[in-house]
Amino acid sequence: MAFTQSPLPYAPDALEPHLSARTFEFHYGKHHAAYVTNLNKLTEGTTLASLPLEEVIQSTFGDSSKAGIFNNAAQVWNHSFFWSSLSPNGGGTPSGILAEKIDRSFGSFERFKDEFKTAATTQFGSGWAWLVSDAGTLKVTKTANAENPLVHNQVPLLTLDVWEHAYYIDYQNRRPDFIQTFLDSLVNWEFVAGNLPT
Ligand code: MN
Repeated sequence: MAFTQSPLPYAPDALEPHLSARTFEFHYGKHHAAYVTNLNKLTEGTTLASLPLEEVIQSTFGDSSKAGIFNNAAQVWNHSFFWSSLSPNGGGTPSGILAEKIDRSFGSFERFKDEFKTAATTQFGSGWAWLVSDAGTLKVTKTANAENPLVHNQVPLLTLDVWEHAYYIDYQNRRPDFIQTFLDSLVNWEFVAGNLPT
């Protein structure tokens, strides 16, 4: 198997009560795992199978004949990045250089949160909300389906999965409650700070 599923960085029940072990049973154990299986099937015996995942994503983006490979490769990457964006001791406020950059880019941490909430809430249908570094400025973006900042020359710092499968078991249709809980109690700000370009 060329591509493997990254291990969860915490126990499946570590984020309870905010995200349940049952959510991880499906989201990590079924959805994320299936993207890895599909990517391996689609790339088996091709030159793509030996490339780093990021290069598979960047080299298949926008090629309609490779849409299936792009979608599965990007979803493998996005989910690994999402698990690392969460922490059992998450939430609160960032500090240090990251806090300064957020203040400089958005005006304040509160304004960043408002912008992120709006992006995550208004992504129509399946997709992702992101905090990215774009030419030295921090920005909030949203992408549809599997698309991610790697194909837009942006450095991903933080992501939230807003596909329904990410929150339906714990929040049903209440996506805004899921987003609020993510910001209040789950964001791994140390991971975000570590992703800042130097
Ligand atoms: Mn997902």
